[in-house]
Amino acid sequence: PNMDGFQVIDKIRASGRLKNFRIIVLTNHDEMENEVKGLILGAVDYIRKPIHMESLKLRIDIHIEQLRIIREMENSLREKSVTFDTLFQQAPIGITISYGSKHNENMENALINSTFENITGRSKEDLVRLGWGDITHPDDLRDELPKYQLLLAGKIDGYSMDKRYIKSDGSTVWVHIVVSRLYETNDLEFNHICLIQDISLRKNIELALEESERAKSVLLSHLPGMAYRSDYDPSWTMRFVSGGCEKLTGYKPEDIKDNSKLEFAELITEAYRKPLRDKWAQVIADKGKFEYEYEIITSEGEKKWVLEMGEGVYNENGEVEALEGIILDISQRKKMENSFKYQSEHDEITGLYNLRYLERLLVEELSADNGLKKAVVGINLSSIQSVTKAYGFHYAHDLSRRVAEALRLMAMEGNRILFNAYSTNFIYYLKDYISKDDLIDFCEEISERLSSVLAIERITGGIGIVEIDDYNKEDIEKILRNVLVASEQAINSFEKDFAFRFYTKGLEEKLIREEHIKHRMVRIVEDGGNPEFYLNFQPIIDLRTNRIINFEALARLSCEDCGFVSPLEFIPIAEKTKLIIPLGEIIIIESFRFLEALRRNGFDHIGVSINISVIQLLRKGFVAGVMEIMKHMEIDPGLVTFEITESVFGMNNGDLNEILEELSEIGIRIAIDDFGTGYSSLARERELSVSCLKIDKSFIDKLMILKIEETITSDIVSMAHKLGHYVVAEGVEHKEQVEYLKDCGCDMVQGYFISKPMDGNSAIEFIGKYEG
Ligand code: C2E
Ligand code: CA
Ligand code: CA
Repeated sequence: PNMDGFQVIDKIRASGRLKNFRIIVLTNHDEMENEVKGLILGAVDYIRKPIHMESLKLRIDIHIEQLRIIREMENSLREKSVTFDTLFQQAPIGITISYGSKHNENMENALINSTFENITGRSKEDLVRLGWGDITHPDDLRDELPKYQLLLAGKIDGYSMDKRYIKSDGSTVWVHIVVSRLYETNDLEFNHICLIQDISLRKNIELALEESERAKSVLLSHLPGMAYRSDYDPSWTMRFVSGGCEKLTGYKPEDIKDNSKLEFAELITEAYRKPLRDKWAQVIADKGKFEYEYEIITSEGEKKWVLEMGEGVYNENGEVEALEGIILDISQRKKMENSFKYQSEHDEITGLYNLRYLERLLVEELSADNGLKKAVVGINLSSIQSVTKAYGFHYAHDLSRRVAEALRLMAMEGNRILFNAYSTNFIYYLKDYISKDDLIDFCEEISERLSSVLAIERITGGIGIVEIDDYNKEDIEKILRNVLVASEQAINSFEKDFAFRFYTKGLEEKLIREEHIKHRMVRIVEDGGNPEFYLNFQPIIDLRTNRIINFEALARLSCEDCGFVSPLEFIPIAEKTKLIIPLGEIIIIESFRFLEALRRNGFDHIGVSINISVIQLLRKGFVAGVMEIMKHMEIDPGLVTFEITESVFGMNNGDLNEILEELSEIGIRIAIDDFGTGYSSLARERELSVSCLKIDKSFIDKLMILKIEETITSDIVSMAHKLGHYVVAEGVEHKEQVEYLKDCGCDMVQGYFISKPMDGNSAIEFIGKYEG
């Protein structure tokens, strides 16, 4: 290019209008004179098809190469004394020189070099025999013949074209052919020279390109969306936009192209602009692939989901020059996805988010290290189950919906999300609260609201709270389990209708200990009793005779890890796990062994009192089982008392009456344990086959604090007597208590004042000591 040329380029550059252009140089070649007459400097907006540069380059190279060779040959001939033959044969292009007549189309008398033979895959003899017409691809022959005719007719001096020769093996070879008339001094009427060069490589590239272009245009016209090439700038300035743009966005391609009416960025919904920019920045940094789903706003103002897939186009220096890709309409899919997503993330009945979504959200939330306080609050309404049993599922669902409605009012955008984890369990995920007090206030609010919503149904529940910290945040499953545990703990506290509990280290330790105790008891049951489990016996004194009349058998558990475990701790666990059934049998047998020992020692009038849990009592075959053991061990039923806690009698269970009757028919006495702590009515107990009341220790304790006339103990005694029960006072620790109990006619006492519970041998020794 001359100076003017460069100035033009600079001007274009400076204008900023065309940033993406390439300078190309074309040879202005006069084929007939085999001379490059000049160079054409061009600036090409290469946005559309930059790839064509390759093909263009090859094309130019080949042409120039042919020209160079001919020039060289001429020079060599002129300057050096190389023979024409040598040059002719060694030339790297195929050459034939034909001395044909006007009427002779074949190649007879032609000079053919070996490169020509190699390229066409034909021997000289073949070439002469067949003539060029027969070995030219018929499609190309159609194009070439007219030119050749013109050449023959002297109307042109030569021609050039790309054509195919058919090799002897049937395959074809693409060549660039230059045919030129020769004016030689020789007297033959007409001669011409033909130069060929193998261009298969270039041709293949071109064909592949053509095919890919064709495929691309077919694809683009059928694309459910648009293809683009854009600048990598804040407005995503579009340089190429395919026709599908209009259907997708409602705008014509030319409206968006070059930001002529609006920027593509304006089409993207606000919320997605920054995420998209960030994503592209990352894709470009990694030289990766872009894939993103977002929403655009069409010319109609309607939101539409699109999927964009693309990648950066980079220059030789690895700098990004443009973005290319496609943007597809996925609104249909999104619609389906959204409805599917909605279904899979929400509870069918309450419409709240479900457990699956909760877990997914927690995974996301808890891995975010944002320093915010986070907690999970669980509301356990398992008592809805009982309503379900009474009124059916529809009623229960309706109730769940009402609860959900009430709880939803307390949810707060972003910071307090409500879930219906499973049927009767609701969970709040809380974020960004200030202190524990906030959680407490919140739980109190829940408690109040639920109490009023569920007042009529008399449904109660518990609220569990787990605060999330670095120690538990990894284990979401455990967090949810702990919320449940804490909420159950709250239910069991019986504090109020909806009490709450934090899940604490202490609670966790308690659970671990419970688990351990459970395992020890399983072992004991498997072993059919072992030294870790034994009975202690506490004497019961007849106040009139001051003699030991009975021993209460009290279960003991002690193991290496837990030390001594109180029955107040292990009996409830045994009940919960139903281990009390086999364990209770061991207790009964051990108690009967003690009776045997008493008998052996001459105390065949002293009985044994055995605590029986309601789970044992109501179990089918309990009475028969006891009878069988008694028969086997030859036990006098008259010496056996079963103590049953008062709470059992409140249950008003028909079976219970029957079982108690059966037991008293056998001759076993029934004592109501912890009398005065439950809700049973003395009147009802009269109907039952009960022979004894054990006044709970709490009443006996009061004898020491309150004035005598204020206690109700004497009333209980007299009333019990009227109903035909005899009375045992439990937990007697002081002489004064004994005195008072004697005065009001209490029949028997039991307590540390007489003796603490002892092992069997000590108990038998104790009889002698006590009765002197
Ligand atoms: P309980 O049946 O009311 O047993 C009386 C409890 O009071 C015993 O506690 C006994 O050691 C304690 N006690 C007796 N006199 C006094 C006293 O003067 N002062 C004080 N402070 N306490 C006294 P223990 O042995 O810890 O048993 C606790 C509870 O565990 C029992 O209460 C009973 O409900 C249950 N239990 C114990 N053994 C068995 C058993 O073999 N089977 C079943 N089902 N429950 C049992
Ligand atoms: Ca008892
Ligand atoms: Ca008791």
